[in-house]
Formats: sequence, C-alpha cells, structure tokens
Amino acid sequence: MTEFINKLEIKKISRVVQKVQQIASRIDIFCSALLFQVWRRFYYVFNKREIYHSLEKRKGNCLRCGRCCHASFKCQYLEYDENGLSLCKVYDRKPHMCSLYPYNSEDYFDHIKSTCGYKYDE
Ligand code: SF4
Repeated sequence: MTEFINKLEIKKISRVVQKVQQIASRIDIFCSALLFQVWRRFYYVFNKREIYHSLEKRKGNCLRCGRCCHASFKCQYLEYDENGLSLCKVYDRKPHMCSLYPYNSEDYFDHIKSTCGYKYDE
C-alpha cells in the first residue's frame, strides 16, 4: 500500500515538475522574443543600408502563418481568415518593422525560424 501511495506521489511530483518546466519555457520564449524585438529595431536604426541590401537576397514568401505577429505577445491587429491564414487589420499601413521581417539571416525569432516561409542562404 505504501508503495502504491509512493508511486502516486511520484506521479504528482512529476506532473508538477512538467508544468513548471512548461511555464519556464514559455516565459523564456516570451522574454527572448521581446528582447529580440527591441534589438532588431535598434539594429535597424544603425544599419539601414546593410539591411536593405540584405533584403534583396531574401527568398521565399510569407506563408501567412502569423507566428511572427505573436512571437511574444499577440499583435492587436492580427486576425485569421476562415482558412486559418493570418490577416493584418492594418496591412496597408502596417509598421515598417513588420514588413521588413526577417531582414537578414539573423533576424528571426528563434522558436519560429524553421517554419517561416522566408529564407536566406547561409
Ligand atoms: S513567420 Fe514568416 S511566414 Fe509566418 S507570417 Fe511571419 S513572415 Fe510570414
């Protein structure tokens, strides 16, 4: 009986540990994405020429997954159509930094880089 209770306790502890790990991972992704947004704006201000040169080498297309629009917190202008594709409510006047994403091979949110439709030869 005590063995059974011990197994239950271990399962409970294991579930709690998993939950804590999931929360820690989300916090980590949120904070790094937020810092990255600040960094890419800062980088843009001092490297415009390089960025526009680099953009000419950007390949592929936006898949309209919308992941970059909620890499940290969800953009207030992000919506999805009936097919699940992202829609920007202010597409015609969207912030310049949005249209530049990703502006070079380093300009990706780490956790969504592999799924983005835009690619650079590395
Ligand atoms: S992550 Fe890439 S493919 Fe997805 S919406 Fe953003 S730019 Fe488009």
